[in-house]
Amino acid sequence: MKVTRSAFLRNAVLGLLSAGVLAACGSGAGTSEDVWKVGTEAGFPPFESVGDDGELVGFDIDLFNAIGEKSGKTIEFENLPFDSLIPALQGGTIDAAISGMTITEEREQTVDFSDPYFNAGLAIAVKEDTADIKTLDDLEGKKIAVQIGTTGADTANGVPDAEVTTFENAPLALQELSNGNVDAVINDAPATLDAIATGNIPGIDVVGELLTEESYGIAMPDGSENVETVNAALAEIKADGTYAELYRKWFGAEPPTE
Ligand code: GLN
Repeated sequence: MKVTRSAFLRNAVLGLLSAGVLAACGSGAGTSEDVWKVGTEAGFPPFESVGDDGELVGFDIDLFNAIGEKSGKTIEFENLPFDSLIPALQGGTIDAAISGMTITEEREQTVDFSDPYFNAGLAIAVKEDTADIKTLDDLEGKKIAVQIGTTGADTANGVPDAEVTTFENAPLALQELSNGNVDAVINDAPATLDAIATGNIPGIDVVGELLTEESYGIAMPDGSENVETVNAALAEIKADGTYAELYRKWFGAEPPTE
């Protein structure tokens, strides 16, 4: 990207200003009341990814910024590995995580979730024109790529004699399939469908029915007092049309009516 001189100067000045503001606030790194630090693994388009200018973009990013607006909080996103999000919540280094994260009983043992904000489910992806893989049973003894720490990884690990390879994010797992190194990927259907629709990962298809029905939630530390605030903001966002607007923007369709 071409950086014009004035943009450069403006950024330099802004940088100095914010450095000054930070210095004025003292050196403590503690979370301020008005700032929510929100973790996400930004390799999961269209929910979260890194945009052309290095900024985070996606449905989850817009949704959480809207939640911040409704709640009077400034949102600071932190791009973390997916399997570090729950430990970061437990350790108190982030206030919330939004990352296409499925609400599961297992996760509910250690974190609190907001009300569900998106319906998803797992699907099997294969190379185009694959005839012999239609269901989970067909994956027995096959090579499967997954994203580490996900519900897709859990499902793959339950397939008898499968050889499961884990990747940092879903696009890397799908790329492995596109390259012909594995037989299938088990991943969230909306993310796989987006990779196919955008042409980001060539030569792959989604097969059969969804393997699961899953709901995404915003994860917060166990017992967090922010759960109610986040749920109230979510309800407002759904009621006032913001949710529908974001859904159209990122999925090009009307949101389901539940
Ligand atoms: N929904 C899946 C899970 O929670 C995958 C999420 C993701 O890859 N970001 O495990």
